[in-house]
Amino acid sequence: GAIARLGHSLDLRFLFREEETMTLIALNADVLVTMDAQRREIKDGALVADGPALLWVGATADLPAQYRRMADEGQAKVLDMRGKVVTPGLINTHHHMYQSLTRAVPAAQDAELFSWLQNLYMLWSHLTPEMIHVSTQTAMAELMLSGCTTTSDHLYLFPNGSRLDDSIAAAQQMGMRFHAARGSMSLGRSKGGLPPDVVVEEEEAILRDSLRLIQQYHDGSRHAMLRVVLAPCSPFSVTRDLMRESAVLAREHGVSLHTHLAENDNDVAFSREKFGLTPAQYAEDLGWVGRDVWHAHCVKLDPEGIALFARTGTGVSHCPCSNMRLASGIAPIRSMRDAGVPVSLGVDGSASNDGAHMLGEVRQAMLLQRVGHGPAAMSAREALEIATLGGARVLNRDDIGALAPGMSADFVAFDMHDVGYAGAGHDPVAALVFCTPANVSSSVINGRVVVEDGRLLTADLPVVLGQHRKLARSLFERAAGQ
Ligand code: ZN
Repeated sequence: GAIARLGHSLDLRFLFREEETMTLIALNADVLVTMDAQRREIKDGALVADGPALLWVGATADLPAQYRRMADEGQAKVLDMRGKVVTPGLINTHHHMYQSLTRAVPAAQDAELFSWLQNLYMLWSHLTPEMIHVSTQTAMAELMLSGCTTTSDHLYLFPNGSRLDDSIAAAQQMGMRFHAARGSMSLGRSKGGLPPDVVVEEEEAILRDSLRLIQQYHDGSRHAMLRVVLAPCSPFSVTRDLMRESAVLAREHGVSLHTHLAENDNDVAFSREKFGLTPAQYAEDLGWVGRDVWHAHCVKLDPEGIALFARTGTGVSHCPCSNMRLASGIAPIRSMRDAGVPVSLGVDGSASNDGAHMLGEVRQAMLLQRVGHGPAAMSAREALEIATLGGARVLNRDDIGALAPGMSADFVAFDMHDVGYAGAGHDPVAALVFCTPANVSSSVINGRVVVEDGRLLTADLPVVLGQHRKLARSLFERAAGQ
């Protein structure tokens, strides 16, 4: 079935790699960061994967004899991790991948959220299905090379026949674990919303398409590579009815809910003025709290909101670079974590964080909390934990985010011989976060090697980037011709 759905720009050479069906054994990692219950960091670490799952994790010296034999006799694919730090694959919980076509747009470089959006909506109204497809491949390549193995994407406008299927096909080509969020906007300017009417949809059509996507694609099973999420865009672009009805539909089918909340002062003012509620009260009023809900940003979540989110297990996607770029503020992540709110990391869309480097985002999360709350506000290891275990919890999964038997075989390796790590051998794990963010040397997703020797194996990257450049130019030309 997956093959039949694949799109036009696929080179089949990348699909059928013999070693995919082989047992995978990674050996000799300088340090293997497990994020298991004891937060073990194993020196000279090794792991064994078979199919989508990990079978064994431990020290190379303790590798069971049968796996040693398989490795020696060439019956397993062996990854030599000497000189590398291995971590669980990082998890990105907020993105708008189509925006990789509209980075550093001059008219939106120096704006806060509302004016930034108003400067971009009309440009985005010219997106095509091919643009969605290729921009998703491109954004995923950047994420995978920077340590991310599971990502969500929040696509909330569907001009010119675009569908969520376009990004789902791209994820399947790239081999990335994907939580595809069916976004939506229904409150156009003529009804008191922020977006122009041309980019909003009818609510009935949104709910119908949401149901179709759940039925066609959602996989609730362990090690699932694809889940569907319902995600009306924001308080200022959808009605309260659509928020409520989306929550009902999501819960009927056991899928998660995602939206933007309390991003900056204007966003809070809109909620107070239009609804007479704080963002947290608005979320609670609509049934948008619980372990199956996560909200992006929450920069301005108040103490009552933090207590509510902690009590209900409602998740947050923290997007530090975007919050700095749009001058939204410093999210109270220290208070949220201390209160027990599930916190994860998101790079956010490529038009408000023009660099979507996942390990770089981990670093910014640590640094930004320190700017706001002092040098002890966040350690390197806590930032890594947010990007792994935190992401898994927010996506409501217990099969990713840690390396232990039975967990999904999602792991990445960083080469400590990179110039950026020179002199940081005293603590290679902390170095990942303190030093200049590196790209991965290897990445394995669901037991399949997707990056090897720093090279992406699931796409011909120069070809994809060539298409992307052409489409970005064409998007601007279409908009200018309007
Ligand atoms: Zn966003």
